[in-house]
Amino acid sequence: MRKEKMLLYSTYLKHRFGGRVHKISVDAGFGCPNRANGRDGHGCIFCDSSGSAAVGIARQVSIRQQLEQAKALMQRKYRAKWFIAYFQPYSNTFAPLAQLRRCYDQALKVDKVVGLAVGTRPDCVDDGVLDLLAEYHRRTYLWLELGLQSSHDRTLAYLGRGHDYACFLDAYQRAKTRGLRVCVHLIIGLPGESRDDILQTAREMAGLGVDGIKLHLLHVLRGTPLGDRYLAGEINTLAREEYVQLAVDVIECLPPHTLIQRLTGDGPRELLLAPLWSLNKWEVLNAIGAELERRGTRQGSHFPGTKSRTCDL
Ligand code: SF4
Repeated sequence: MRKEKMLLYSTYLKHRFGGRVHKISVDAGFGCPNRANGRDGHGCIFCDSSGSAAVGIARQVSIRQQLEQAKALMQRKYRAKWFIAYFQPYSNTFAPLAQLRRCYDQALKVDKVVGLAVGTRPDCVDDGVLDLLAEYHRRTYLWLELGLQSSHDRTLAYLGRGHDYACFLDAYQRAKTRGLRVCVHLIIGLPGESRDDILQTAREMAGLGVDGIKLHLLHVLRGTPLGDRYLAGEINTLAREEYVQLAVDVIECLPPHTLIQRLTGDGPRELLLAPLWSLNKWEVLNAIGAELERRGTRQGSHFPGTKSRTCDL
């Protein structure tokens, strides 16, 4: 992939820390306010029972053990030097502050862990949580990751997200007031969304000047309400070329300083109903790079202003 066309997080981290930095997904046992009893019930229609957990997460062991196990593997396989503990599945601010603090501290005590990423929902970050995160922001390299998926309320309602765009904006502004780095998750290919809808969301994020962004391809997983609708023939998924075109359209809209933390996604192979082409992640990434090259554009090509701002995250 032609990395110079985009500000990729992996490249940025390597420069910032002077060596390869890998994120390790950690399951701290938190639930999600959008699911009955935290974990049991269905929440967002695309979310499986693992709370959208990363593939290969070792959830039965302690936070320290999860990190140590993944660390050993990544050091061997990728010669990774430093690590960021990524509190990833479910909502990682959905617990009393003392419990959150214990979990984050456990991760930071692990040798070579240089930072934290905390994934959560916009309606799960009250001022107490944000004050706590601001404290960690001052002592380590911290990212708050907010799941938004779309800026369109009708889509958020269809997805069963349980919050609207105004809720996201409120959480985002309160996080930025505290100086937090914020990465926003978006999904491309949501049912009922046109190219214009997707670009409108991208322009909203560009207007906010978000620090980081993760672009996810919509995955349809077996055992989810979305999976049932797919099997009933009610929804379609994107073809690979459609996704590549849309992802590049979004990238062109983003400000040059926004760190791109993800360009596609990998659903669990055994649960994935569609699109199956997404299993070949490298083909997707290469196709995005090639399309930018073909168009002669880059991240920020269609973003007016802030061209002089550099990444200072
Ligand atoms: S907020 Fe996250 S964990 Fe909760 S139901 Fe939605 S996708 Fe799943």
